[in-house]
Amino acid sequence: LTILGLESSCDDTAAAVVRQGAAGTEILSSVVLGQSDLHAAFGGVVPEIAARAHAEKLDIAVRRALETAGVTLARIDAIAVTAGPGLIGGVLAGVMLAKGIAAGAGLPLIGVNHLAAHALTPRLTHALPYPYLMLLVSGGHCQLLTVRGPEAFTRLGGTIDDAPGEAFDKVARLLGLPQPGGPAVEREAAAGCATRFALPRPLLDRPGCDLSFSGLKTAVLRQRDMLIAEQGGLTRQDRADLCAAFQAAVAEVLAEKTRRALAASAAPALAVAGGVAANAAIRAALERVAEDAGAAHVAPPLRLCTDNAAIVAYAGAELFRAGRHDGMDLAARPRWPLDSAQPALIGGGR
Ligand code: ATP
Ligand code: FE
Repeated sequence: LTILGLESSCDDTAAAVVRQGAAGTEILSSVVLGQSDLHAAFGGVVPEIAARAHAEKLDIAVRRALETAGVTLARIDAIAVTAGPGLIGGVLAGVMLAKGIAAGAGLPLIGVNHLAAHALTPRLTHALPYPYLMLLVSGGHCQLLTVRGPEAFTRLGGTIDDAPGEAFDKVARLLGLPQPGGPAVEREAAAGCATRFALPRPLLDRPGCDLSFSGLKTAVLRQRDMLIAEQGGLTRQDRADLCAAFQAAVAEVLAEKTRRALAASAAPALAVAGGVAANAAIRAALERVAEDAGAAHVAPPLRLCTDNAAIVAYAGAELFRAGRHDGMDLAARPRWPLDSAQPALIGGGR
């Protein structure tokens, strides 16, 4: 089974060819054309600019993915495309191109939920059976899900405000560290003392698996301003100590909520994905949670945790095997919660 995947839901234009055989899944090609240079001057992703860039670059990505894989469309069995959630202009560009290719080449079309693609990634790289608990921790997401099948997810909790990566980025900005903030904060934290500043552990005193990170960021801001008021600025050590305290708080909150979710789901394995999983302190805390619960721990390589089309093609392959395919009325969905039966529709649909 050879699947062409397309991804354009945020600021990466991506195409990939994935082959599934008896020996497992092989990524034949994975092309990611980033747009960060286009958005850099605006301090964030500009939806209109992203949509136009996707429209311009998608077919280049597809051509390159086919070339690198050494296949033509005649060798492709189905086309998988991210149909949401995401920035609507980009998702529409991907869905339209996928429909065009599917119609032109007479291929089945499969709409993939972008979050499902992230959540299924551990199965692309590991022989991981269902069910498993998935912690998605990135710049845009923070969710705890029981994954029971390619379309069967139960959401146990998630952030009620910022995603952890977003909080890392904001804390880095507060302390004058470079972006992306996560790696910068982790570097500083290595020389810091995590107990000098007492930061809150948001929502830890409440039952359930929901998380919150915006208060933590505000607490760092308050400490910073107090230090500035007292001593006129921050020393290198102040900065390191604040980073260490913040990182320890995030790790502790993530670990405790994951521990609860693992107990609630009774899943035999914990999978972690998303850019924040690159953080060694957080990863270690989560590994300990899995170990204490007697659960396996799976973390796909980081290059597959950030946005790419190989994970979309892989999710498409699972859906295709399960008999799912979509028609030319496949809708682009800006919002598409993983466990909702009735996603919001835009631009057609059923
Ligand atoms: P999404 O894919 O959910 O829309 P995204 O593309 O921003 O969001 P990723 O690319 O998965 O997410 O991750 C990027 C985020 O991960 C950034 O916020 C970055 O600061 C954070 N991050 C990267 N490395 C580390 C690290 N070592 N420690 C903490 N955070 C990190
Ligand atoms: Fe993503």
